[in-house]
Amino acid sequence: MYLISPKRVFKGNKAWDKALPEISKLTKSPLIVGRSSATYPLRQKIIQDLNLFKIKTINESLHFDCCEEDLNRLYEISSRNNCDAIIAAGGGKVLDAGKILAHQLSIPCITIPLSASTCAGWTALGNIYSKQGQFIKDINLSSCPDILVFDYSFIKTAPTNTLASGIADSLAKWYESSITSSSSRDGLVQQAIQISRVLRDQLFLDSEEALTEYSVENVAWRNVIECNSLTAGLIGGIGGAKCRTAAAHAIHNAITQLQPKKKSLHGEIVGVGILIQLKLEELKNDNKLADQSIKQLVKFMKKLDLPTTIGDLGIDIFDNNNLEKIAYFTCRKESEIHFLPFSVNPEDIVKTISIFEGQKIAL
Ligand SMILES: [Zn+2]
Repeated sequence: MYLISPKRVFKGNKAWDKALPEISKLTKSPLIVGRSSATYPLRQKIIQDLNLFKIKTINESLHFDCCEEDLNRLYEISSRNNCDAIIAAGGGKVLDAGKILAHQLSIPCITIPLSASTCAGWTALGNIYSKQGQFIKDINLSSCPDILVFDYSFIKTAPTNTLASGIADSLAKWYESSITSSSSRDGLVQQAIQISRVLRDQLFLDSEEALTEYSVENVAWRNVIECNSLTAGLIGGIGGAKCRTAAAHAIHNAITQLQPKKKSLHGEIVGVGILIQLKLEELKNDNKLADQSIKQLVKFMKKLDLPTTIGDLGIDIFDNNNLEKIAYFTCRKESEIHFLPFSVNPEDIVKTISIFEGQKIAL
């Protein structure tokens, strides 16, 4: 079964106002899931607007990341209150939690991204983390959300680093899908890969301007937020599992295991993962263009103030066996790294990261 897109997508200025009557047809007593104190005022507005449409809400926040503890607690609250839908309003982990809950409860899901940091508002996937933010597993859901509300004025309230992080996560679509799936004979997969290339080029063109003039009126800003939250999701929908992730996300998942004091966003870690993946391609797959791609990406990422090394993420790879821990987690049996068209073992990762982190990338 293909799970290509949400049933309905409201996007643009006033998307929320346009979505409200449709939401009122779908639910009368939803559970609203959010998290951060930064998005609290916006969530209050959402709740008040829903109340005006005679929708009675139960309001809850994640205490941690999207983890079993929070999911179990919210499942119980939702069941006890006979909630008839989940409305998730927040960043990627809130959206994931809302989708997983709706899936578990077999009730409709409405996603309202409050930043453009991921495509989680679109997809039929959810990631589970530990309470401490360590990646555990991803879950395939039975459908994409019923309604996605992508309101520019909501996204505008998010800090600029969430947009930069989303850009790095979107770039990974091309770097991961083109290496894992370019030999596929499946036309839809090939088309998804080509969309991810166009997406990458659009991001190269518009990202700097989007961050410099962070405004709803700026067409570059609108293009970039839609790349991150809509197109990136569509690529996953059309291309399927192998189009989504490879080494960059496998390395992300490994880095989250270390629980560094410095909290980095998902895409900030994935961006470093792309660079390490390219280095791995150069060393193991004789990719002659990898070095050039690394230089191009590092230059671009630095302009966006994104981290470009594991050191930038606040992790000393030589401390506490961190390098070995990353290598072993990256290469565990179920890791996406094994989608690569060449074999990779922990020694390869140790060698690649040692060279990568030790190298001063000349620009
Ligand atoms: Zn991602």
